[in-house]
Amino acid sequence: MKDTYTLDDLKNWDAKPKSQIRLGIFGDPVAHSLSPQMQNAALEKLGLKERYARFQIGPEELQPALELIRRLNFVGINLTLPHKAAALSLLDGVDDGARKTGAVNTVLVEGEKLVGFNTDGAGFLHAIRTGFSVDLRDLRVLLLGAGGGAGRAIAVQCALENCERLVLVNRTFEKAKELAAELAPHFAASRVLGPVARLQAVPWDEAVLRFQLANTDLVINATSVGMQRSDPPLLPASLLAPHLMVYDTIYHPSRTPLLAGAEAAGAKFANGLTMLLHQGALSFELWFDRKAPIDAMRAALPFT
Ligand code: NAP
Repeated sequence: MKDTYTLDDLKNWDAKPKSQIRLGIFGDPVAHSLSPQMQNAALEKLGLKERYARFQIGPEELQPALELIRRLNFVGINLTLPHKAAALSLLDGVDDGARKTGAVNTVLVEGEKLVGFNTDGAGFLHAIRTGFSVDLRDLRVLLLGAGGGAGRAIAVQCALENCERLVLVNRTFEKAKELAAELAPHFAASRVLGPVARLQAVPWDEAVLRFQLANTDLVINATSVGMQRSDPPLLPASLLAPHLMVYDTIYHPSRTPLLAGAEAAGAKFANGLTMLLHQGALSFELWFDRKAPIDAMRAALPFT
């Protein structure tokens, strides 16, 4: 089994089961993906013969690659950057959740048909429940990075769970405002909250964030800030306080400056490995219609 396959490999895929690869992840870049080790641990644990691989697939290669997996008897595929939104128009069917999220991260090959799902939001929901022992619906949430794919999936999940309060923050403010307008019907019912709105898009401004964080339980980083060593802290450390739970969707590095700040402030915190784990387990369950061996999947990931 190679470390990474390409569209050319798929075009010349051996019809004989030389390889049992019938699952994988399409992305560009894809080398960093931890999904193969997690999914292969699950397949081995259950004694299934299929294997899961990385596929380096560029934007213009997505359509032919999807056509090929339809013909090559694949079970399914995960999609990561930059394919999640593009896939919507290339599949035979898309479930409601993925349509609302505007992105597909899981494709199931059902006979001749390719059907799209999104497990990122539900994976996030499980990550919060298992990581902090609370339900999203009971939380006042502040989401940094409401303009990207992960941020959108999380915001939609917060809306579907009808969380107490959702504050959307994004570098490009317009995108946060558009998302707030789209999600407004979910927050129409009033709850006893005091002097703050249930749903708001706010500009990325320190004074504004200070006020909002006083009325927040859970802060989420869904931006890519923190992935590079040279990245500045996402929030000034002085904004973090012990009452907060801080979730960073980034898992590499495992401790971003935001999470280091959360720890120093005495807040609870967790990184994105739990979201990766739970979205992967949900994908597995879509593909095999059976419970994913989550302990084996967790053991294959670099939890410290
Ligand atoms: P994306 O679609 O490219 O979105 C990037 C987001 O980050 C946008 O909201 C963008 O704001 C914001 N951003 C980028 N640079 C910024 C900066 N310098 N300052 C402030 N905001 C900035 O990416 P994505 O797929 O949503 O991924 C976002 C993060 O989620 C990544 O760190 C990724 O690792 C993580 N993720 C984790 C999992 C998991 O399972 N744990 C799954 C998916 C994604 P603008 O709108 O202004 O550009």
